[in-house]
Amino acid sequence: MKLFDMRTVIYSFSISNLITMVVMVILWNQNRKRYSGIGYWMADYIMQFIALVLISLRGIIPNLLSMTVSNALIIGGTILIYMGFERFTDKRSSQIHNFILLILFIISHSYFVFIINNLTIRNILFSIALFIISAQCTFLLLWRVRSAMYSITRGVGFVYAAYCIVSIARIIFDLTFKSGIDFFRSNIYDTTVLMIYQMLFILHTFFLFLMVNSRLFSEVKKDIESRKETEKIIRLRLRIWEYAVTHTLKELMQKALDEIEELTGSLIGFYHFVDENEKSLTLQAWSTRTKAVFCKAEGEGMHYSIAEAGVWVDCIHQRKPVIHNDYSSLPHKKGMPEGHAKLIRELVVPTIRDGKIVSILGIGNKPSDYNEKDVELVSYIADIVWTIVSQKKAEEQIHQLNDQLEHLAMTDELTSLANRRAFFILGGDEIKRARRYHSYLTLIMFDIDRFKQINDTYGHEAGDTVLQCITKTIKESTREVDIAARLGGEEFGILLPHTKSSDAVKLAERLRLSIETKNCKVQNKRMKITASFGVADFNNEMPDLDALLRDADTAMYKAKKQGRNKVVYIK
Ligand code: GH3
Ligand code: MG
Ligand code: MG
Repeated sequence: MKLFDMRTVIYSFSISNLITMVVMVILWNQNRKRYSGIGYWMADYIMQFIALVLISLRGIIPNLLSMTVSNALIIGGTILIYMGFERFTDKRSSQIHNFILLILFIISHSYFVFIINNLTIRNILFSIALFIISAQCTFLLLWRVRSAMYSITRGVGFVYAAYCIVSIARIIFDLTFKSGIDFFRSNIYDTTVLMIYQMLFILHTFFLFLMVNSRLFSEVKKDIESRKETEKIIRLRLRIWEYAVTHTLKELMQKALDEIEELTGSLIGFYHFVDENEKSLTLQAWSTRTKAVFCKAEGEGMHYSIAEAGVWVDCIHQRKPVIHNDYSSLPHKKGMPEGHAKLIRELVVPTIRDGKIVSILGIGNKPSDYNEKDVELVSYIADIVWTIVSQKKAEEQIHQLNDQLEHLAMTDELTSLANRRAFFILGGDEIKRARRYHSYLTLIMFDIDRFKQINDTYGHEAGDTVLQCITKTIKESTREVDIAARLGGEEFGILLPHTKSSDAVKLAERLRLSIETKNCKVQNKRMKITASFGVADFNNEMPDLDALLRDADTAMYKAKKQGRNKVVYIK
């Protein structure tokens, strides 16, 4: 009884092959630029279809085409698809053995067509060749691919495993129940095997489609994940920059450590500067958590010798990030100081500038092992932190320098009082304030009497000493808010905000008396010095500080005229 007609099976196989071939062409067209190897798959599908057409035309076309060429196309196509898989999975290898297999198959197959016509041996030869190639496909797709790719390729891999099983089964059946001479009058087993091949081929197409799609899907997923990761890092970078604007260096370093700790799931974070000759390092900051929970040991600002430090400076010796995932097993560990956190694992990265290690940043005690991703992340953040830190350091130095310059530009060198320039800048502000708030503002001006004589008798240096001595008296008698300045030569001015003229006159009188009675020590001699004072007060008619100075100067001139060592006030 004939359950299946072989010709019908072959026709239906041809039609389904035509459909799967179209599917494969579409798959190739959509993905040829993305993945290599799909062209080989498509070539196989075309060859399989041609082969089936040739087989179905048996009796109509020469045997060479319908038997030898068709079988060679199927086996050759299967070799091609295997080469396609190797390209798709990036596991290329030499194919010489498969080409030899193909040649041997063609020769032996032709022998059993043209010399001895034996369908059974031809079927066995075909099954052996198919088994050898399918076994290679199975091995590649289920074992050779990276573990990451296994989930993508296993579907097709199982189809090839099924091909292997069917091929072996077919060999056993062929050996047991001999086929006839005519393929189209094959026994039920052969037709069944062919139908199984057909189903496997459809399944094969389906899984190929799935394989490409799941690879696409996993890549999109990976892409989204890495984008999220990048976004996270960019946001962190922004946060650190923003934080740096309004916080001190120390706060900034602590904040960066807190952030890295959170991002990596670590429980410890530390940051050290490395000195110029890479001999020692200075602890700059611990993360908030490390400080609060782990490290009871004192250490901030402490210097450590690199030669004597423990495994946490390995990254300096090796000049690259170092991971110790099992601290307790390290043979060269030196142990932790009293009160220090118990270290389980750590990752320490150096930051290198111009070939020199400038700082190290470490994290520790993540619940799982540190990996390359952590290294990449921490190195990136450490680099940003150093960039900001060095920028902030430079800014602080510039500020200090500016302050120094400003101080120099505003100070009189000999007496370190404000100079004339500073007197006009600061005094101008006081004038504005007095005008706006109608507050008192008075000015005392004085000039040392007969100063030229001191210079002439004792020398210029002695004169300088007198000037410094007088300055001391001024400083002792004035308040913080008063603006005392050396206006030039041996002439001084004291601007007194919120001070009535009567009080200013009293102060001038006190100053005059203390200068007179102080007897400055010059060249080991006590010298009696006197000065003449002019006092004037500000009123709203005065256009500027110059006007007030003129009044005080006039008063002082009067004091000189009245015999010196006097205080004169002009209303
Ligand atoms: P008078 O009582 O009228 O003020 O007499 P005087 O001698 O003090 O006269 P004047 O105020 O005109 O003299 C100023 C002198 O101060 C002239 C100058 O040699 C001297 N002098 C100016 N600057 C300095 C300085 O920085 N150091 C010293 N040692 N002398 C100075
Ligand atoms: Mg004088
Ligand atoms: Mg003078």
